[in-house]
Amino acid sequence: MNQNLYSLLSAHFPKNPAAACMILPDGRVWTYGDIQRASARMANLIVGRGLKPGDRVAAQVEKTPEALVLYLAAIRAGMVFLPLNPAYQRHELEYFLGDAKPGLFVCRPQMRTLAAELAAKAGVPHVLELDDTGRGSLIDAATPQSDIFSTVARTTGDLAAILYTSGTTGRSKGAMLTHGNLAHNARTLHAYWHFQSGDVLLHMLPTFHVHGLFVACHCVLLNGSAMFFEPKFDAARAMQLLPQSTVFMGVPTYYVRLLLDPAFGRDTCRNIRLFVSGSAPLLKETFDEFRQRTGHTILERYGMTEGGMFTSNPYEGERRGGTVGFPLPGTSLQIVGAGGTATKPGVVGNIQVKGDNVFVGYWGMPEKTREEFTAEGFFKTGDMGSFDADGYVTISGRSKDLVITGGLNVYPKEIEELIDAMPGVVESAVIGLPHPDFGEAVTAVVVRQKNAEGRALTESGIIGAIKDKLANFKVPKWVYLVDELPRNAMGKVQKNILRKNYSPMTP
Ligand code: ATP
Ligand code: MG
Repeated sequence: MNQNLYSLLSAHFPKNPAAACMILPDGRVWTYGDIQRASARMANLIVGRGLKPGDRVAAQVEKTPEALVLYLAAIRAGMVFLPLNPAYQRHELEYFLGDAKPGLFVCRPQMRTLAAELAAKAGVPHVLELDDTGRGSLIDAATPQSDIFSTVARTTGDLAAILYTSGTTGRSKGAMLTHGNLAHNARTLHAYWHFQSGDVLLHMLPTFHVHGLFVACHCVLLNGSAMFFEPKFDAARAMQLLPQSTVFMGVPTYYVRLLLDPAFGRDTCRNIRLFVSGSAPLLKETFDEFRQRTGHTILERYGMTEGGMFTSNPYEGERRGGTVGFPLPGTSLQIVGAGGTATKPGVVGNIQVKGDNVFVGYWGMPEKTREEFTAEGFFKTGDMGSFDADGYVTISGRSKDLVITGGLNVYPKEIEELIDAMPGVVESAVIGLPHPDFGEAVTAVVVRQKNAEGRALTESGIIGAIKDKLANFKVPKWVYLVDELPRNAMGKVQKNILRKNYSPMTP
């Protein structure tokens, strides 16, 4: 059988081609028939331009149905899809195009001049445009094409996509994902989260990232169901659409923002069967408040660009706040100490994973790829965490964010949780800053509430309040009070920016 991911997905499309797939903000509907025909036209266009299976199709476009169809067309035609965050500017774009050398680059009209210049420099032969209303030279060129296309045969090991990591810890790396990787994770999540007939997903995530493109869309397509396809997250709009939806997937900040609306509650969520959170840690406070306000227990899961989802809280059974649940079926997850031996429950170590969903390497970085896999084929995630006695995994942070002070390890999350629980605190980020005696000094950057309790917070007050609860070396030496933390598009706190901004070495 053809192992092309599109063949798997389309085998599950509804028998009735008039069934809705994407419902747009203005009420227009893209049916499953529309998707099949439009992706065929685009696939014919791509092949007609001379691209060969394995060639990259890069897209830096807004979230539109046409953009999703472009993804489907690319994999259908055996190409490797490479989505790029629209926020990327010249410097980043130059790196991605030069690195991935796509055969086709689809850009937004406002990037026309820059795209032409950079494409010429990187040797990209074709540049087409797609705007935020779904129009442009890509569509003009695809429209006259045949709407029949026979999906190109692929094996499980053939590349389907290169997704660049979010760049939270440094320069983004291109994770090479195969048709087999994506199919495996899609099937697993579809089954684990009990996707069922009648489901309607509210889609407000960006589609250049694993969460919005793969986790959300693959579940919907494999289920042959409909999704509200919204250009971005908007709390007021979510309030309107949630009552008509059964599944919502979001990053933690979406949940925080929903809770800010006093009208948000049980009634808004009356038809929802599943709320999923991931991409960044969900505060226990948010998890608790959400349950109390709506009666729903958010299901938190953990994963990364390099393989989709690795763990999930259970669908049935206890969803434990502050944990990311159990390794998913088909994913082996081990937590090892410095010597490479498995840690005991409750002891923090390095998280490593192996499974059919785990990527095959970083594009153009064989050296880095070798370094990040163990001899037994486990991928070193760079995240630290522990199992509890019942097998739930808790993420303690990234190994790069581990603070080493006076030779002792400090896991930021332990201190962040104590600070977050203080009255007047919204959230906090603990980092290590260079210190002449200790190597690194534990430093807390604290976001205050905009009320009297928040205004009353002081550096010494915060230190004083947690001093008795922590070993001395873990107590922050410095505290900065701020209004918000720097976050990237996926709601991830950018600790590298904090380290740079607050470093005593930085003038
Ligand atoms: P880069 O690798 O370029 O530094 P990144 O790791 O942020 O960027 P992604 O692949 O988008 O890029 O994010 C994966 C990371 O997100 C994980 O390694 C983990 O640190 C974090 N993450 C994802 N889900 C969760 C979660 N539920 N709780 C805590 N952290 C999470
Ligand atoms: Mg990463």
